[in-house]
Amino acid sequence: MAAKQYRECSRRILAAAVAFMLGLAAAVPAMADTAVVGAAPEAAAAEETAAAEGSAAAETAAAETTAQVQPAAAETTAPAAETAAAETSAAVQTAAPAVSGPSGAAASAPGRGEDAHEGGFWTGFNGGPGVAMQGRAGTASQSQYPVRAAAVKTDGYYFNDSNGMYTYQALESDLNALKSNYSGVTTAVLCQTPDGRQLYHVIIGNQNAGKKLLVTASMHAREYITSKVVMRQMKKLLDEKKAGDTSLDNVCVHFVPMMDPDGVAISQYGIDGMQTSVMRDTVRNIMKSWAEWEILTNQDKYNWYLNKWKNTAKGVDLNQNFPTDTWSTLNDARNKPSSDMYKGPSAGSEAETRAMMELVNKYGYTAVVNYHAQGEIIYADDDAASEAVRNRCNAMGAVVKGVTGYILPEPHEGSYDDGAFKSWLNVKKGIPAITVEVGSGTCPLPETDISGIWEKNKGVLNALIADMMNW
Ligand SMILES: [Zn+2]
Repeated sequence: MAAKQYRECSRRILAAAVAFMLGLAAAVPAMADTAVVGAAPEAAAAEETAAAEGSAAAETAAAETTAQVQPAAAETTAPAAETAAAETSAAVQTAAPAVSGPSGAAASAPGRGEDAHEGGFWTGFNGGPGVAMQGRAGTASQSQYPVRAAAVKTDGYYFNDSNGMYTYQALESDLNALKSNYSGVTTAVLCQTPDGRQLYHVIIGNQNAGKKLLVTASMHAREYITSKVVMRQMKKLLDEKKAGDTSLDNVCVHFVPMMDPDGVAISQYGIDGMQTSVMRDTVRNIMKSWAEWEILTNQDKYNWYLNKWKNTAKGVDLNQNFPTDTWSTLNDARNKPSSDMYKGPSAGSEAETRAMMELVNKYGYTAVVNYHAQGEIIYADDDAASEAVRNRCNAMGAVVKGVTGYILPEPHEGSYDDGAFKSWLNVKKGIPAITVEVGSGTCPLPETDISGIWEKNKGVLNALIADMMNW
């Protein structure tokens, strides 16, 4: 297969990361070289995947249920219940927006990196029992980050905050708030993540409609600003329906607003964002395995590594884990669990991947929109898809370009992306799916970027739904 002109997320971000690392410390050739090598996993011959998509889907750990959104706190005024997460630790962060988001330009996330030097993380790392890793929460007072203290926000929604990081707990609170404030909001849980979070699925609109649109966000951890975007879109559609708009009468819109909640917690809070000791150890072991990157001996690199976390807590890139026909020959340039790019031990190996596959198999969507960050670019084309699907993808891309003004590459050879959710949808399922990359800079994008991103994306679903009515 010819070299790709474009690849979702990884190349631009990695290039930025390499540039950053070179600027951070000139004497890090090992890491920079590794990253550069990793940035070019271009070649991938077509071959049968080892994993049968059907069997992988059948293994989905948790069947979708109509379970209530698990609230963040028992005392919340919203419908309340206990979290299913085992071993909810004191380090679990609150959704309180007092925490400023990581700056895209900074070497370390404000808040996480600033005080992380205290005590020295590397001595902590090898310091024996009882010595905590100095992640974000590890150096914070518990009063500042109380356990699951996020109740439904009284003055609106967390996703409306222009400064606060959008955490998993904030998402839970907002889902409860939406269910309280609007009729016709159905939530379900697709699976439990390895660190004990819920993979939430939300349905609005007419569930008997023939046309079904799926919208996803935060498949990649550090791109969590996209969860705010799709949650705002959800509320906008509900507001319009409340005001008399009939668009949702003819379509059912599904959301998976945070596909990698464990990874999001790592990017936002480091190792102490993990709720379970098992997954804390898992992340530590991943970092140990990449010790040549000096992430255990250099505080800034340690912070950088966690802040830039893109994968699941098990170190798998969900967007390289789907059982496309070429998965087995995909060179992910990592070959073992990592903060980014690793395709996993087998196609469909991850619970989140299998949950998404089962969701798609259950509903057979008319179209799918995947929100990622960053680049202000739309990945629409797929040269391995049928002509009908390919044309539909490019037409959807044109619609989104018309609203956002983002770049839409011309159809081109190599637009198929091994292991990607979009390509699995396009080729294996025959479902037109596009990827929209919001924002520009490096991920995590500064929280304040949400305002500009929202202005460009607030009309995207309206336009796509209107277009779908003509399909
Ligand atoms: Zn991405």
